[in-house]
Amino acid sequence: MVKQTIQIFSRIKPSKKTTAVYSVDNDEPTGAFLEFLVPRDQAEGFVNNKRECYKFRFLKVFDQAVKQEEIFTHIAKPVADSVLAGYNGTIFAYGQTGSGKTFTITGGAERYSDRGIIPRTLSYLFQRFSQDSSMIYTTHISYLEIYNEMGYDLLDSRHEASRLEDLPKVLIMEDPDQNIHLRNLSLQQSANEEEALNLLFLGDTNRMIAETPMNQASTRSHCIFTVHVCRREPGSATLRRSKLHLVDLAGSDRVSKTGLTGQLLTEAKYINLSLHYLEQVIIALSEKSRSHIPYRNSMLTSVLRDSLGGNCMTTMIATIAVDKRNLDESISTCRFAQRVALIKNEAMLNEELDPALLIARLKREIQSLKEELAMLTGEQRDEQLTGEEIQRLEVLVKAFLEDPDPDVTLSMGPDMRKIQHCFSLLKIMIMGKQSAGNRHSDGEASPGNTVAVIQNSPCSAAEMTKLKEMMTQRDNEISILVKMLKREKKRFQDTGDQLANTPNGQSPASQSALRPAAGPPSREGSLDSIPANHGGQAIQMKKRDPQLSMGKQEAFETFMRDHEDRVTVEHNRELLKQRSAEARRIGEKLSEAKNRINELKKQLALQRRQRAALSVTENCPEVEAEVDPVEENLCKHIEQEKKFYKSSIGVLKALRTEIEHLQLLLERAKVKLQRDFHKWWGLEASSVQESEATAGGPAGSPHRTLQPPLPSPPALCSERESRADPEPKPVFSTAVGDLRALSTTKLSSSIPLTGDQQTDADILAFVQARQNLLNRTGQLQ
Ligand code: ADP
Ligand code: MG
Repeated sequence: MVKQTIQIFSRIKPSKKTTAVYSVDNDEPTGAFLEFLVPRDQAEGFVNNKRECYKFRFLKVFDQAVKQEEIFTHIAKPVADSVLAGYNGTIFAYGQTGSGKTFTITGGAERYSDRGIIPRTLSYLFQRFSQDSSMIYTTHISYLEIYNEMGYDLLDSRHEASRLEDLPKVLIMEDPDQNIHLRNLSLQQSANEEEALNLLFLGDTNRMIAETPMNQASTRSHCIFTVHVCRREPGSATLRRSKLHLVDLAGSDRVSKTGLTGQLLTEAKYINLSLHYLEQVIIALSEKSRSHIPYRNSMLTSVLRDSLGGNCMTTMIATIAVDKRNLDESISTCRFAQRVALIKNEAMLNEELDPALLIARLKREIQSLKEELAMLTGEQRDEQLTGEEIQRLEVLVKAFLEDPDPDVTLSMGPDMRKIQHCFSLLKIMIMGKQSAGNRHSDGEASPGNTVAVIQNSPCSAAEMTKLKEMMTQRDNEISILVKMLKREKKRFQDTGDQLANTPNGQSPASQSALRPAAGPPSREGSLDSIPANHGGQAIQMKKRDPQLSMGKQEAFETFMRDHEDRVTVEHNRELLKQRSAEARRIGEKLSEAKNRINELKKQLALQRRQRAALSVTENCPEVEAEVDPVEENLCKHIEQEKKFYKSSIGVLKALRTEIEHLQLLLERAKVKLQRDFHKWWGLEASSVQESEATAGGPAGSPHRTLQPPLPSPPALCSERESRADPEPKPVFSTAVGDLRALSTTKLSSSIPLTGDQQTDADILAFVQARQNLLNRTGQLQ
């Protein structure tokens, strides 16, 4: 922000007549002075105190001989410069009719050298625009004439055909921020100096045409020529807008021309009422105590509000005609200027963000980021997630929450949309739980309460359905696993039989000690049974793929063990291991060879330096020319090492290609395995469902496989379950007979049992726990 008082200058029009006695002093350090000497006889009628000498201070006084060029350089150029920097600027000429306002602002019509401030400023601005290629400048011109408190657009094309009074009026509008907007005032873009000058010419011509002897517009109207400059850096959304008002005011004539002997004129005799209001605004502004400034009283003060006491660098030129008869007007003009000089303005840089440009830039940025993302991820992303993606995320989140493993991670890929969606899912879940919890004042998280919460919560029905679905899924899983276990068992038995039949075979008992017992492969067992790295992958998969339940995971491991590709995969893995080790070995050798070569090079350089030094000190240059055996030997060594180095690099390259290829093969095998497994799993699941359906559903399945007497299930399990049950039923601590009874109930009759006591006990324990829960919640109908 630049704080500045309005700068005042004075210009004296050349006069051939006898002038009043005045003197100009531009050498004062505090400014320039214009002094009038009034003969006593004349002062009597004009100034009451009969002072003889009237002295006024200006920034500079331009006497009669001063040319237009100098006026431009001293007055207009600094203002134009601040406009270029982004500040508003105003230059206005004030003075009586015929004192040279129009000549100063617009210029004389005859000579090129008489061009005034407007054409010179336009020329200067466009010249500066062309010099500054780092910015884009746009210029608009408006030309307003205010006559009798009415505004007219001097650039209106209809001007030529009409009288001033018939033209559409320019209206002042004020927005909520008290900014002034002029309706019906055209803003004409001008791309260069010529176009801008044409507009000036057009406006001045319009003004002349509209003038009639009746309205005397040229002396009684105000003209405001405004250059609107917009500056912005290419590609930037910030722009600077500034306005330069060049104002030719109406004549300030106020005193009777009948002579200086007359009395002071009353306000009613002012030639121009709006100048009266201008003066009031200026008085109000120059008095610090005034809070209200009457800008709204006239159109001129409304339009020039920023120029007077606002966001603008303002300069006034007091034009003075020093003819003897104009002395009173000259003194009046100078007095007015002195008041104007007290007004402080605060000019600000008018920087703003162009929303359209900003939006365009952001759009471009988004597009390029999208492209970058697509390049990195290899997939095109829409604004929204698809229904399928959302569904998948829901499954992921659910599995994540259900997994008892504290190390389980929720991984949905580097996609912010997905990450945010997962977070909102989690939030919904937590909020749902909280609101359900709040409804129960005791809030104890006992199993009984949980059931009550489930029953009473609004989403319990939906959750119940989900849980039921999950249960069906698990039932299927159990069935598949049981089938697998059976197969395993059979195979094991077959092998046992075979071994038993072999003459030097070991007993089945000793064999069973070597292999894990039939039944569900224990976790360690299953990991042992697949290649080390595969086991690693299986673990990784369990962590990464929360879609796999525990049962499914087990199944996967077993599935892998029996897969036809397993041998190939294992072979490839072994090969990869070998090749990697080989590559490492060759790499080490290579770096050793490199070090050796460097060492040999150093030795060679040393040897050569020594020989050169010898040839100088002993002054026998032939020493240097001779073949040195040491040097020769070193060179031979280097050659050998180089050969080795080169051949090793060749081997390494080939190895690298092979390693990459093996890695690809393994990756492909992994994907195939997973795909095959899912396919197989799907088939198994549907076959289980089918068999259940043909048997009349799970409730009445007749193909129950009743197995030999079952032992008691593990005590730990029964304890846990009975603790969770507020009314413990003696189910798990029962004797074999009870379990038998259980197995014949409606519920358990559909459960395919394996024949393995431990496993069957586990399965039945699970079924019974589920039964209890369903009984409690009344969902089993
Ligand atoms: P105003 O606009 O204040 O009424 P004008 O600018 O029309 O006065 O000037 C009146 C006349 O005086 C015009 O003919 C103009 O050419 C002439 N004039 C004014 N100032 C100068 C000057 N500095 N040098 C030469 N002629 C001038
Ligand atoms: Mg004029």
